[in-house]
Amino acid sequence: MALLEIKFWDVGDFNPGTKSAEGRCTWGGSSCSNKPEFTVTDRTGANLGACGEHVLTYIRDRLTHGA
Ligand SMILES: [Zn+2]
Repeated sequence: MALLEIKFWDVGDFNPGTKSAEGRCTWGGSSCSNKPEFTVTDRTGANLGACGEHVLTYIRDRLTHGA
């Protein structure tokens, strides 16, 4: 079991000037041009934007590597 840290994306979750704050899906890397639907927190405690597709890769990462 893993602890998932997910909420709906909000610009206030990010530092100004970051890709996530600009409304980009950063969990999917630079190749993803979808708008982020969620804010997820990675294992280092950093917030990242994730679209509906890439939020699944976040869940897989957490289940693989633990919280
Ligand atoms: Zn994405």
